[in-house]
Amino acid sequence: MIKNTRVEQLRALLVDQPPGVCVLVPWHPDRSQPILWLRGEVVNVGAAALILSGQPKPSPAHVCCHAPVVCHNGRCVQLEHLRWGTQAENMADRLEDGTHHRGERCPTAKLTESQVREILALRGAMLQREIAARYGVSPSLISLIHSREVWAHIVI
Ligand SMILES: [Zn+2]
Repeated sequence: MIKNTRVEQLRALLVDQPPGVCVLVPWHPDRSQPILWLRGEVVNVGAAALILSGQPKPSPAHVCCHAPVVCHNGRCVQLEHLRWGTQAENMADRLEDGTHHRGERCPTAKLTESQVREILALRGAMLQREIAARYGVSPSLISLIHSREVWAHIVI
């Protein structure tokens, strides 16, 4: 049997996840919704994460939903951010996202706006890993901040 490396990498990302923050798959950085082969089917990484964590798809009509407000990232496999939902629930999530509050008013935000400014200022001066350790967040969050995918409303 050929070892499916992507599936193995994904499995590794599902173990010891830091609470709350997005956990992003490392491959296909240009894709907003990476996919992989799992048990003979093409699925997006979020759905694959649910299946691999022992949460099978309840019906063919269900889709992998990301937690509204806290997570907008199709590359995220943080199990706290993922659940199965119907298309209607997915649409409802989007409506909720549309009215959500940004940044530090978000109840799950781990950083303040001034910390995000500092993190932006440290870009290039320290490794993302080191910055992450300093602020107690994941390197993937630092990467998202530096690429202006989150906290994009902060101007420096
Ligand atoms: Zn997430």
